[in-house]
Amino acid sequence: MKVLVAVKRVVDYNVKVRVKADNSGVDLANVKMSMNPFCEIGVEEAIRLKEKGIATEVVVVSIGPNAAQEQLRTALALGADRAILVECNDELRSLTVAKLLKAVVDQEQPQLIMLGKQAIDSDNNQTGQMLGALTGYAQGTFASKVEVAGDKVNVTREIDGGLQTVALNLPAIVTTDLRLNEPRYASLPNIMKAKKKPLEIITPDSLGVSTASTVTTLKVEAPATRSAGIKVKSVAELVEKLKNEAKVI
Ligand code: AMP
Repeated sequence: MKVLVAVKRVVDYNVKVRVKADNSGVDLANVKMSMNPFCEIGVEEAIRLKEKGIATEVVVVSIGPNAAQEQLRTALALGADRAILVECNDELRSLTVAKLLKAVVDQEQPQLIMLGKQAIDSDNNQTGQMLGALTGYAQGTFASKVEVAGDKVNVTREIDGGLQTVALNLPAIVTTDLRLNEPRYASLPNIMKAKKKPLEIITPDSLGVSTASTVTTLKVEAPATRSAGIKVKSVAELVEKLKNEAKVI
């Protein structure tokens, strides 16, 4: 079974993002970039399926600038077999990403497609669902457990108030939640080996997908800075301030 994992290059989760002075977007100059953490969980799950003898090939795909090769190489070092970069410098909306992924799915014909539940830069939480609509494949979102059983995959989903398990006919789309697994670190020998693994670079044009956007970002603003707090001396003082100053009780 071939597994395709979509990985996005995003600002590293440890970085405190800054908004550009002209409010046109987030400043990416000299900022550490990494693989989106939920995508890392997808790569880990695909590799575990390969280690169990269920997956035969793990292909990773990223859509973004040439530098996204770094994240693809990381995925190869973690254990993926092959990578595809759809090189594109435009700011992409989820629907365009989903259309590009659909074109890759048409070419690659994977049985299982893994995506993160959300990208931590745009917080969209929609690419997997859109890909589900475009392909017509079954989808299991927010997965905390994935078990392939014959021609089905059972996905346990984290939903409000509990866990729901659904059986999806393959081919299927799964989006990963935080508790699905704990991704491994790449070892130095594997990082070296990954340099020799195949990484194909293609363009959106070659997939027949236009990347022209129908949405324009008007403004990006940093959240208002919080004023410093104060220390109160007693519970009585706290209650008095909540009542008379903050007026919340
Ligand atoms: P989003 O819907 O933007 O929150 O992203 C959800 C998931 O879609 C990510 O975790 C990735 O698996 C996938 N995805 C989004 N954008 C890209 C991209 N540019 N390249 C590859 N995968 C992507």
